[in-house]
Amino acid sequence: MKCSVATKMFSEYIDDELAPEQKEIVDLHLRECETCRNELAELLAVHGIFTSAERFPAPYGFSTRVIASLTERKRSVWSSFFVRPVFLRAIEVAFALIIVIIGLISGNLLTARKPPFLTSAEVRLSFALDVFEAAPSGSIGGIYVSMTGVENER
Ligand SMILES: [Zn+2]
Repeated sequence: MKCSVATKMFSEYIDDELAPEQKEIVDLHLRECETCRNELAELLAVHGIFTSAERFPAPYGFSTRVIASLTERKRSVWSSFFVRPVFLRAIEVAFALIIVIIGLISGNLLTARKPPFLTSAEVRLSFALDVFEAAPSGSIGGIYVSMTGVENER
């Protein structure tokens, strides 16, 4: 027997719905084939979960309540989609996040343009004027300076 044929019969095997000859054939294959044994074991485990779940019946009115809440939800989804508090809250959160992100980005841009740490020498340099620059030697100012002997202040 092929594995594919055996696995097709597993659900009936578990439910004990196979004819005795078929069951015997599956049993024979299972004795030889470890792969199918493992697969059957898995199916039995799942089956066991379901059968054990069936042993605990739902509390009285449970299914009725579930169905009622489902149909109620289905009705209210479309009628209150745009006034739903969750929906509004989501928009508010999104806007708040956008504002915070914009603030962070613009703040970064502003501080990025400023040199972060200026030394006092650099500040003085940025305000320095060229008024007291040494007069070029060929200029009138340079001649005057050389005639009067006034030293350039630097
Ligand atoms: Zn097999």
